[in-house]
Amino acid sequence: MRPSIGFIFDVKRFALHDGPGLRTTLFLKGCPLSCMGCHNPEGQRAGPELLFRPDRCTVCGDCVPACPRGALVLEDGGIRVAWDECRLESACVELCLPGALELVGKSRSVEEILDLLEEDRIYFDESQGGVTFSGGEPFFQPDFLRSLLHGCKERDLPVVLDTCGHCQPEIFRELAPLASHLLFDLKLMDEDRHEAYTGVHNRWILENLRWAGNGFERSDGPSPALTVRIPLIPGVNDDEENLLASAEFVGGLGTRPPVDVLPYHRLGVDKYDRMGRDYHLSEVAPPPEGAVKSAVRLLEEAGLKVTVRGEHYGDD
Ligand code: SF4
Ligand code: SF4
Repeated sequence: MRPSIGFIFDVKRFALHDGPGLRTTLFLKGCPLSCMGCHNPEGQRAGPELLFRPDRCTVCGDCVPACPRGALVLEDGGIRVAWDECRLESACVELCLPGALELVGKSRSVEEILDLLEEDRIYFDESQGGVTFSGGEPFFQPDFLRSLLHGCKERDLPVVLDTCGHCQPEIFRELAPLASHLLFDLKLMDEDRHEAYTGVHNRWILENLRWAGNGFERSDGPSPALTVRIPLIPGVNDDEENLLASAEFVGGLGTRPPVDVLPYHRLGVDKYDRMGRDYHLSEVAPPPEGAVKSAVRLLEEAGLKVTVRGEHYGDD
């Protein structure tokens, strides 16, 4: 019996950067990593989360008495959210007409999602596009993802999986081949540095990437396409040691997958404020063009096919 309900936090139609053609990207909630530079912090936790947008707040005060926990406080001519008090009762969200308060993360059935994708089939067909499951991390809800992948297969909807790769290898080997294309993030090769930046080890990531990059052990049909994506984050993973180790690893894969370099940028940083969280890369600036070119040269000298993409690192 396939579970038919899962959590998503966004749907982006006509997406241009999440795989080939025009795509509808579904962002599944929850991620096993907590990357410091994540641009989708609202996708990291499994359940719903409150977002407060001061720019939309008219300071009407209606939400203050609605919160049974006193988590919304009227002070200094504005609303302050006492984040530690909030238990997501959400009465405030329903009252807030300007939409300054928002609960991020909704449960959706597989059928609902498949019906939504059917509406977009016309532009999938015309652009050789399809659906992209992103996040958060799509493998974080493996049963839901399994149902979605089988549903898409039955309806002949091409799927891109946008993944950080941190998933139990047996689940990865079962589900990844159901996609037509994998966008696989590779952040740091050294295990200790990976753990310091993301909060988790990289052993499953490297094992899963090695398996996918060596052809998914498929002898019974075409393997999904694979693109490795390296976010380039100054002071985090842009040093020669890490780039050379990444190049050696990817270059050693049997299929020699192409590499997309995604220069760090700061879009999405204001979401941290809206969620009452600290952003730990506040001192980091986007890499200058020269640094991006040097990184690309280093990867190309190792024999890799490299493209620089402008889309947002962390939209994965
Ligand atoms: S109900 Fe909405 S607009 Fe009114 S004070 Fe609360 S957050 Fe601001
Ligand atoms: S950047 Fe991607 S892998 Fe890292 S925490 Fe954010 S969603 Fe998860």
